[in-house]
Amino acid sequence: MRYYSTRSRANPANFAAAALTGLAPDGGLFVPEEIPRYSPAVRSSLGTMNFHDIAIETIKPYVDPEIPGAVLGDMIHSAYPFTAPLVEAGGRLVLELFHGPTAAFKDFGARFMARAFSYLRRNEERPLHILVATSGDTGGAVADGFFGIEGISVTVLYPKGRVSPLQERQIAGLGGNISALAVEGSFDDCQALVKVAFADADLQKRHVLSSANSINISRLIPQTVYYAAAAGRAMTGRADPDGEATPRNPVKPGVLGGFSWQAGPLTVCVPSGNFGNLTAGLYAMSMGAPIRGFIAATNINKTVPDYLATGDYQVRPSQATISNAMDVGAPSNFERMAAHWSYPELRRMIQGVPVTDDETRAVIRAVHERWGYYLDPHGAVGWKAVDKEEKPENQTGGPLAVLATAHPAKFAETVEPLTGPVPVPASLKKVMEREPHALTIPADITALKDVL
Ligand SMILES: *Cc1c(COP(=O)(O)O)cnc(C)c1O
Repeated sequence: MRYYSTRSRANPANFAAAALTGLAPDGGLFVPEEIPRYSPAVRSSLGTMNFHDIAIETIKPYVDPEIPGAVLGDMIHSAYPFTAPLVEAGGRLVLELFHGPTAAFKDFGARFMARAFSYLRRNEERPLHILVATSGDTGGAVADGFFGIEGISVTVLYPKGRVSPLQERQIAGLGGNISALAVEGSFDDCQALVKVAFADADLQKRHVLSSANSINISRLIPQTVYYAAAAGRAMTGRADPDGEATPRNPVKPGVLGGFSWQAGPLTVCVPSGNFGNLTAGLYAMSMGAPIRGFIAATNINKTVPDYLATGDYQVRPSQATISNAMDVGAPSNFERMAAHWSYPELRRMIQGVPVTDDETRAVIRAVHERWGYYLDPHGAVGWKAVDKEEKPENQTGGPLAVLATAHPAKFAETVEPLTGPVPVPASLKKVMEREPHALTIPADITALKDVL
């Protein structure tokens, strides 16, 4: 597969170059020359194939020929000891994307990216150094994904005192090839520092630097897999047989499942910030997965819903909300969406629905009270967007799934006042036992250079 910059078709790159450089030299994002299609045989088997086989069929054309099939198979098996169950909960389908080690969907992208980087650099002598700025979730997923991967070290910069204790342990509790820097400043300061570091000739000479942020194509492609798997399931009219609705309220067994729904092409509601996840969904639909369309759920940072309503794309400063992984006023993947599809095409495929913090809190409380199901603030934005969109006059018909992008225990400080104690999965319990070891630095490039 060849990849072009969203800004010019002049210098195509292969998958290896697109993944390892991240951003195109002209500042654009890499997009595949064309979106591949599933063969008819694969398309009609999506409902019965297992997650790993769907992953291989989905990712193969994007990484061919740099990653051979057998290698890809090994990567997928080691990256995904967990899957994305489609469960019935609260009279609705929920695609749970939080069963990975850091309990958010970013595990799907980060764990594949780490293995792809390691393989693509197998003959390089010099170690690769990844710099990543995080407001919370990305740093944890990238740290976990690259932990113990040979030939690659990672430095995560996070705003000191502004991530949750759990997130801090996910970032700074691993050690080994993962270093954590607590920056005395904001997330924007961390991001600015990383940018300056990449432009620094001196650092470039001393290190092979790369980034791992969400515009990297190698993080986006693996996210396509769970859309195809869920859409295949929805065509069979059954939720995932192995997918237990978790976390559930043990006091109310049986309330979760057992409603009837009709098989058919799936509508997917995607809680969105930078719109990488939604873009991956659009890729799955274009590849031929049986998807009817999308609801793009945002918090009050509603740049894309406004664009869909008016045709006018206006980026703005981000505003803080309780679904903070979606506090994005200038979604970086919009450039990718606009490179593939026209405004009328995007409008046909996506309904944009913004949700307020008050609505988000109310729905977390109500869904728990009525069904015993715990939503995290991001999934709750998605749930509420469906409530608002699925009025009788715009009923899409056919099955609909909300993406639950994080485990509610990850955002316990917001969820528990509304629901009472949230059951904590074993993976997060283990994280809380770690000691965070971060070096504190001022938001200053000289300090960062000294440390590196
Ligand atoms: C990153 C994140 C999102 C937003 O995903 P995008 O791909 O940036 O749109 C939503 N929910 C959670 C929990 C996240 O960590």
